Amino acid sequence: MRVPLIAGNWKMYKTAAEAGDFIRQLKTVLTAQLRVEVAVCPPFTALHAAALELAGSRIALGAQNMHWEEEGAYTGEVSPRMLKEAGCRYVILGHSERRQYFHETDQEINKKLKAALKWGLTPIVCVGEKLAEREAGNTIAVVNAQLEGSLAGLAAEELTRLVIAYEPVWAIGTGRTAQPEDAQQVNAFIRSVLTTRGGAAAAGAIRILYGGSVKPDNIASLMAQPDVDGALVGGASLRPDVFAAIVKGGCPGEGNG
Ligand code: PEP
Repeated sequence: MRVPLIAGNWKMYKTAAEAGDFIRQLKTVLTAQLRVEVAVCPPFTALHAAALELAGSRIALGAQNMHWEEEGAYTGEVSPRMLKEAGCRYVILGHSERRQYFHETDQEINKKLKAALKWGLTPIVCVGEKLAEREAGNTIAVVNAQLEGSLAGLAAEELTRLVIAYEPVWAIGTGRTAQPEDAQQVNAFIRSVLTTRGGAAAAGAIRILYGGSVKPDNIASLMAQPDVDGALVGGASLRPDVFAAIVKGGCPGEGNG
């Protein structure tokens, strides 16, 4: 039984003080026991403040990136060991903005992913096609290549400790959301790749999220798809009321105070 995950990617928004305010407000609106797991992924400088506010709550903490080494002469980088100590459970790896602006490759993502697992962090591995790739009919080939590269050398047991996020690049921050059926088609393909790599039991345990302009009014139809196990939310995760509405929309029928 997969427990869905709804994670907020704050990108380069919010200071430590703003993160604390956000989490205090979120806690006041997410009071009920939820059927979904909730995580927030602030910038590095706000992780400590966020961890203090999250202590004792059911909301998990994640980071947005990391280096694969434990320590070293890598100016400007942050290691998995540091994230673990800061209280992170999750780390987003291979986000399309990292791939686009910082030229991250699948091979680097693979190294980061293995390091995250070694340190007991759960990677949220992002894959997804660009608009031109979709229009050329290459969505599945692109996602397949990203999975092949980033998951290389992982054992079935390691696969079960991953979260995958399908994030079509053309849907990120654009207001354009994939149709639920399209998200389902790609997520089902991702699960088929995971089945080939790790067997049906491992693949059945892995949460595959959708990300790309998720909002309170589209979360329910996305999560109604059998292979959409939650969402990675960017812009709409920056306001506690909107993010809470997405979380509640992802678990219909629950009374949330
Ligand atoms: C993201 O950055 O992972 C994302 C999905 O952004 P948005 O929700 O703003 O499209």
